Amino acid sequence: MNIILLGFPGAGKGTQAVKLKEKYGFRHISTGDLVRREVAQGTPLGKKIETIIKQGGLVSDEDIVNLLINNIKDEKGGIIFDGFPRTIPQAEILDRYLAGAGRKIDYILLLSLSEEVVLKRLTSRRVCKACGTIYNIFSPGFKDICTKCSGQLITRPDDTLESAKHRLEVFKKETQPLIEYYKKSDGFKKIDGARGADEIFSDIEKILALKK
Ligand code: AMP
Repeated sequence: MNIILLGFPGAGKGTQAVKLKEKYGFRHISTGDLVRREVAQGTPLGKKIETIIKQGGLVSDEDIVNLLINNIKDEKGGIIFDGFPRTIPQAEILDRYLAGAGRKIDYILLLSLSEEVVLKRLTSRRVCKACGTIYNIFSPGFKDICTKCSGQLITRPDDTLESAKHRLEVFKKETQPLIEYYKKSDGFKKIDGARGADEIFSDIEKILALKK
């Protein structure tokens, strides 16, 4: 089964993807993580896209598609796409690529919530520098250290107020049209993303009929 998680940056796509991966063994592909890895490793692509990412803009369709395909070409199991596609051309390329491999997207899950809530979530998000676990400073029991690996928590450079605002504008302009693109598919489901992560996960399990 292949699933696309759609929604504003900060809507909780990464959190749900990790839960699905841990419980059901999906492969989690976050194009955001892939580009951040390129930047951290200082590859030619990383150097080219570093500023775009920091400012909250989009990497070109060509670069992101190449990066994605390099990372999924040998994958045979179910994939969760988190942060991809973000434009209609990316969605069309993904559909064609999967069709060529005898595969398809089974579900498109839209995590829906207000701009106001995502902006607050983005600016209060912290990420473990070592293992990537996501935290929020307003969550009950928040400690300024990773509870999984004791790693240092950092604020992503694109989670500043200015960058976060820009990312929401980019989403509305470039990614919102994807909702119309996917709405016609049988597998399109809208989920209330303003609730707690466990409640959302339980809904996702029901939709995907994963719960025994
Ligand atoms: P994310 O972690 O999904 O919020 O992605 C972080 C940043 O990576 C985005 O703001 C973009 O600069 C870049 N990025 C990730 N996925 C894509 C994509 N599908 N298309 C273009 N840029 C992307």
